Amino acid sequence: MLVTNYQQYKGVLFVFGHGEGDPGCVYQKETEAEMIRRLKPHLIKWGKTLAVPVTCYPRNLYYHANDLKEYQDWIVVELHLDAARIPGKGGHVIIHQWFKPDAIDKNLITVIDQHFSLVTRTSKGLSCRKDLKNCNIAAQYGINYRLVELFFLADKQDRMYYLNHLDDIAKTIVQAISGQKDCRCVD
Ligand SMILES: [Zn+2]
Repeated sequence: MLVTNYQQYKGVLFVFGHGEGDPGCVYQKETEAEMIRRLKPHLIKWGKTLAVPVTCYPRNLYYHANDLKEYQDWIVVELHLDAARIPGKGGHVIIHQWFKPDAIDKNLITVIDQHFSLVTRTSKGLSCRKDLKNCNIAAQYGINYRLVELFFLADKQDRMYYLNHLDDIAKTIVQAISGQKDCRCVD
């Protein structure tokens, strides 16, 4: 894990993709919106355990993207699952193309690789985009923001792994942000 600058921020805002009637990608009975929110209690737990202030955005940020301006002092991590008619394998981190990946982005790429392997977009495990609403608005406000696609919802093996390892995945995501591997357990 690389050392990060998370202590310069008020904490971490986790944003869960879709919601408020928008299912995101759908595979059989599973929806991206429901599936990605399963991480929420585990992220809150590991924030407390690792002494990283964690807050979770309660709505669909895509519908309220200007709310991002309230989080200029926060690290923002928006969590999604990838969609494809023929699923690929692995995940990636998306940042605005104005920026270079920071230590948090690089640690998150390492964590995705550890659990799900990486897809190659702009480079292995990294996409640089300028066509995503929340990403663009965050860039305009100068917010420390990235969107994470963890794996492809339609990939059964990765879906089962995810459901069986929610707590460990959440732990490693919080560790990626804090840059600390050792548990400084506070309770
Ligand atoms: Zn999505």
